[in-house]
Amino acid sequence: MTELDQSAATIEVRNPATGDRSGSVPITTPDEVAAAVRELRLYQPEWEAIGPEGRKQWLLKLQDWLIDNTEHLADVLQSETAKPRADALIDPAFAVDLLGYYARRAAKFLGDEHPSPHTPLGRLKTLTVAYRPYQVVGVITPWNFPLAMPAIDVFPALAAGAAVILKPSEVTPLSAVELARGWAEIGAPPVFKVVTGAGETGGAVVDNADYVQFTGSTATGRKIAAACAERMVPYSLELGGKDPAIVLADADIDRAAHGIAFGGMFNAGQVCISVERVYVEAPVYDEFVATLTAAVAALRQGADGRESKNDVGALANENQVRIVQRHVDEAVAAGARVTTGGKRTGVGTFFEPTVLVDVDHSMSCVAEETFGPTLPVMKVADEAEAIRLANDSIYGLSASVWTGDKARGEQVARQLNAGAVNINDVFSNLFNFAMPMGGWGQSGVGARWGGAAGIRKYCRAQAITRPRLPTMAKELFWYPYD
Ligand code: NAD
Repeated sequence: MTELDQSAATIEVRNPATGDRSGSVPITTPDEVAAAVRELRLYQPEWEAIGPEGRKQWLLKLQDWLIDNTEHLADVLQSETAKPRADALIDPAFAVDLLGYYARRAAKFLGDEHPSPHTPLGRLKTLTVAYRPYQVVGVITPWNFPLAMPAIDVFPALAAGAAVILKPSEVTPLSAVELARGWAEIGAPPVFKVVTGAGETGGAVVDNADYVQFTGSTATGRKIAAACAERMVPYSLELGGKDPAIVLADADIDRAAHGIAFGGMFNAGQVCISVERVYVEAPVYDEFVATLTAAVAALRQGADGRESKNDVGALANENQVRIVQRHVDEAVAAGARVTTGGKRTGVGTFFEPTVLVDVDHSMSCVAEETFGPTLPVMKVADEAEAIRLANDSIYGLSASVWTGDKARGEQVARQLNAGAVNINDVFSNLFNFAMPMGGWGQSGVGARWGGAAGIRKYCRAQAITRPRLPTMAKELFWYPYD
């Protein structure tokens, strides 16, 4: 387990499955963060000035570096997360794809716009909207995807022309350090820095950056929003979730059960958009629970290096194990039933993939974010009840609807309070970079990943006007009023 000793100058990073030491990183002090930001300010103007085409050359070089180092990056990532190999490979693959997407599209997304004037006087002007980056963007990330979470914000911010200071999670900082090494190795301009440490280091990033992008828990997001408000600095927050899945009676139950098993168990449930609660229409409830239970019980658990063929890995740390066990125990004490799993297993931080039935909204496993391998399932009378219960949450990150009727799926989607809805699918919004994705309610503020919105958030729109007819001595409405 990663140890943070605040009195020490370093963080020891450990594999949560074995306890083996994976590496260590320094704790960057607030003064060092301030100095790093000052240095970034020196190089950012040149980075902005070379424009999207100039930046594309560097970003594509980094893409090549990521491709060449994929296996090594997966090794590092596995050493700090104890993910199965397939999961560990997802981060570098995601980073490679995303980098190509924004490197190639930045010019289009950030190109000048010329809106049509809406008054006769306006027609005498040339109107231009220019997208100008913030100078230094601070990115603070969680531990669940140590390379993909940084990538999703660092790459568009760099592509926009901002300099970036990244503070990865203290639980899994090694992958981000590798990313900084790659940036230096390709000889790119020094407009990207990684600082390591916990909340104090993150707080210093918030105190110095011109824009703060935070991904993590709602509780920390609230503190960051308050600190940004104090400095009048813009921010965006990607926060927690409690994503519902709705299974309607006309659904393909086999697909729904296997999709939801993946949606709940992928990365041991440590995904912001994990399926965290399931509502099933009464006529198909028994069949669904039986199919889901069999699918979850069949998962192979473990995480053992490059050869691993396991499906589900370990939890990030003991704290996550405690949360998951508490949610299961409280549910069982209140009358819920475990159909498979239910307890920690083996050495390290493994928790069995778990299905809970006979749950309700008074239970912590349905009301609070679990961030672990549990799927609580509830029987509902009809579609209306499923929608009402799905919306009964402080969160609104993503949701899924499972139905044989496309039109019905869309109708249900439009009634859900969620930033993204998948019909007969899970996670597909996040893997389609063209789609803007961001949480509603306490799942996020101002955050958008993907598409033009995912890069424009790192820019300020600048409205530039000039007279179309330079020969006019003065405008009609200038002094004197005659
Ligand atoms: P966390 O809030 O504990 O930490 C996130 C980051 O914030 C870490 O880098 C941490 O060091 C830093 N931090 C902590 N206190 C800080 C402070 N006062 N000022 C500045 N930085 C500070 O979250 P976590 O436990 O690392 O991650 C799990 C959470 O992240 C879950 O709630 C999950 O839902 C959420 N998450 C959300 C998304 C999304 O897209 N919405 C994606 C991934 C994870």
